Amino acid sequence: MSDYYSAKRLPVDPGQTGWLSILDRVPFYPTLEQNISADWVIIGGGFTGLSAAKQLAYKGGSGLSIALLEASQIGAGPAGRNSGFMIDLPHALSGDSYVGDLSSDRELIRLNRVAQRFAISAAEEYQMPDHCVDRCGKINASVDHNNQHHNDIYAKQLDQLGETYSMLSSDDMLAITGSEYYANGLYTPGTILLQPAEYITRLAQGIHQRKSQFRIFERSPALSFTRVGKHWVIKTQHGSVTAEGIIIAVNGHAESFGFYENRLMHVFTYASMTKPLSAFQQKKIGGEARWGITPSDPMGTTIRRINTPEGNRIVIRNGWSFDPSMQVSPARVENYAKSHRISFDRRYPALTDVDFEYSWGGRLCLSRNTVPAFGWVDKNVISACCQNGLGTATGTLAGIAAADLAMNRNTEVITYLTNQDTPSKLPPRLLRYIGANATIKFKEFRARKEI
Ligand SMILES: Cc1cc2nc3c(=O)[nH]c(=O)nc-3n(C[C@H](O)[C@H](O)[C@H](O)COP(=O)(O)OP(=O)(O)OC[C@H]3O[C@@H](n4cnc5c(N)ncnc54)[C@H](O)[C@@H]3O)c2cc1C
Repeated sequence: MSDYYSAKRLPVDPGQTGWLSILDRVPFYPTLEQNISADWVIIGGGFTGLSAAKQLAYKGGSGLSIALLEASQIGAGPAGRNSGFMIDLPHALSGDSYVGDLSSDRELIRLNRVAQRFAISAAEEYQMPDHCVDRCGKINASVDHNNQHHNDIYAKQLDQLGETYSMLSSDDMLAITGSEYYANGLYTPGTILLQPAEYITRLAQGIHQRKSQFRIFERSPALSFTRVGKHWVIKTQHGSVTAEGIIIAVNGHAESFGFYENRLMHVFTYASMTKPLSAFQQKKIGGEARWGITPSDPMGTTIRRINTPEGNRIVIRNGWSFDPSMQVSPARVENYAKSHRISFDRRYPALTDVDFEYSWGGRLCLSRNTVPAFGWVDKNVISACCQNGLGTATGTLAGIAAADLAMNRNTEVITYLTNQDTPSKLPPRLLRYIGANATIKFKEFRARKEI
């Protein structure tokens, strides 16, 4: 505990996210340029920060004032850069050997569905278009015919959990995707596919329009916070907020403020989005207008076909890098875009004339023991960070739980999150860097057919 925390690093988001760029119009919020006060300050406007904001604004009573500080623009950070899979099932299920504990997996599924219901009800309340929060399920797909065992194991695990699924043949995969590349697939109906930047911007706008005590400040990174008597004073470049409490919702940047030092792993992954496919190009490949595929090997390629008013496009994601500095160069994004091109051409040799319109990278935060960085970290300061790569659901849950904790409520989500271990210590920095990147390269090599 300390009386003063300052941000050693601020977020840098490499490349232009297609999800935000294709949106027609997005709301604009002011930069903080005054000294104001609020009951609670939320630092970070992603899934976690905005879910916390909604819960606090709706459940905290009409007198409770909230200020949200976002370093960048709402929807421009990782929350508007991801592939949009809001998954109900534990992701690790697709591993080779399932030694998971059925009851804790069932609990996780139930809680992920709490997060999904939160998104569905926000979508209804704020009248988001259907493609924004699309309950269409996902396919876990295998490229390699010899890799059928991944999905067979996955199916057995789902049987044990009593979850529904269907197996898809290569013909089924061709009929859905218009690509001959896939050998088989396993469809689960419970995943929600988000247009992530649209969901995030509409969530922010919905709360902001309905709750006058909720204020958003963009391009207003929290640079430091200091305890002054019973309050915290959070400073930005041109202003400050004096508040009773703080919710830190910055994912890996918790470490930039000095929390969980040497316990958080900062990883980037990369994506590209095509230009809209013409009617002719769509006909040429056939297949369905919208679907989402995760790879049967986690190091493989995630791919979606989206159908929104902004066009029918394909979004492809692969490539990982471990970057403790939390920054990657534009050249890195360009290199990964080349790898996306190869993956895309393998799947759609008939579409080699379709260019990528956007390529970008985004930060994720993992802990070695796959636990969140959640709970009180100082007097009236709550951390709701480290989403372990699945922040659409886990960030939503952490945000709701942080708000409930701030209101001194006791909920099953708080119990679940606070009962987890703290993120475990990492090896020394250089070893970590070399070890993690070597492991990534090795795993990518092993998964090369799925890339
Ligand atoms: C390419 C890609 C694909 C992915 N695909 C998926 C997927 O399909 N499904 C899934 O569940 N997850 C996916 N993820 C991960 C997911 O995006 C993250 O887990 C999620 O965004 C975390 O949510 P969050 O709100 O906790 O943090 P973030 O989304 O990182 O939001 C934190 C916010 O805090 C802001 N911030 C940081 N420091 C400060 C400061 N000092 N002051 C003010 N603001 C600050 C940042 O600008 C940022 O907007 C993917 C990520 C990437 C990059």
